[in-house]
Amino acid sequence: MRILVCGGAGYIGAHMLKRLHAAGHEVVSFDNLSTGNRHAVRWGELVEGDLLDPGALRDLFHRHRFDVVMHFSACSLVAESLREPALYYQNNVIGTFYLLEAMREAGVRNLIFSSSAAVFGNPLTERIGEDHPRVPITPYGQSKLMVEQMLKGYAVAYGLNSVSLRYFNAAGADPEGELGEEHDPETHLIPNIFKMACGGTGEVLSIFGGDYPTPDGTCIRDYVHVRDLCEAHLRAIAYLEREPGAHAFNLGNGNGWSVLQVLAVAEAVVGRRIPYRMVERRAGDPAMLIVNSARARDELGWVSRHTDLRYIIETAWQWERGARTAHREGRIAGVECG
Ligand code: UDP
Repeated sequence: MRILVCGGAGYIGAHMLKRLHAAGHEVVSFDNLSTGNRHAVRWGELVEGDLLDPGALRDLFHRHRFDVVMHFSACSLVAESLREPALYYQNNVIGTFYLLEAMREAGVRNLIFSSSAAVFGNPLTERIGEDHPRVPITPYGQSKLMVEQMLKGYAVAYGLNSVSLRYFNAAGADPEGELGEEHDPETHLIPNIFKMACGGTGEVLSIFGGDYPTPDGTCIRDYVHVRDLCEAHLRAIAYLEREPGAHAFNLGNGNGWSVLQVLAVAEAVVGRRIPYRMVERRAGDPAMLIVNSARARDELGWVSRHTDLRYIIETAWQWERGARTAHREGRIAGVECG
């Protein structure tokens, strides 16, 4: 198939390019490089452009005949979304609207959309299945839910079929060490732990809140390997072929780890102590997010295979020590991993 990957220069999008290429698909990335990295697009053409530019989208769909669109492009930081909600409504909602319109005009009928556990807000049950109430508590979560709702309308009225995949905490890196998580600035827990492990900056890790109603007081998250997420996308393509409509699946590991537990495993992987300090809670963080992926298992035939947090962190650390260090040379002073 010929697949358009919006956000192919980003963390999950770049891993997806590799997986799609390995499966024999032809890929084209569309990315404005606002947070993605040009060097991460190693498979297929990179078209630089913005979802907020309908003309650029029209050109793209005129030049290529796509069978499927995968849409990873988004602003995705919970705390930022509370400070800059307009950015989230504009990029995530309006940008997706233009993408859907371009697909409609070009007659492209299959979309896999990157949604998020943030659509659920504060959990009411220990494990979150698809039917859990969707009451997002941040503009980020709202923007993802708004798109899911748009997708229902587009399925009914225009026959645009979609699968929304709600990721819990994407983590880890390509086990072959070619790709990894590479944001600038970095806000995510595991790469931030590594930043401290790499030393040289005199900084210590900030843990956002030690007074949550969890066993050790820190937030619990469900870390799912990026490769597992890619597998789910492949299965979602096959699913759309047999099940038209607008669907949504929750994707996670099925296990939860607190921030302190993640830190302890990361310390074991990197082989050194990482100093931290407890600071104020970060706005918009629910205490606990753990998936119930039963529907993905039953309907997509997907299960998370890399469930061991140590393995997830090892793959990320391998990237941090190897390829990423090379890419960073000359860009970020004072960071040496090795
Ligand atoms: N976190 C932290 N220190 C950091 C980064 C994250 O304590 O430097 C916490 C954060 O508050 C959350 C968890 O780690 O409870 C996972 O955060 P991350 O930003 O990695 O992912 P999110 O849950 O926001 O998608």
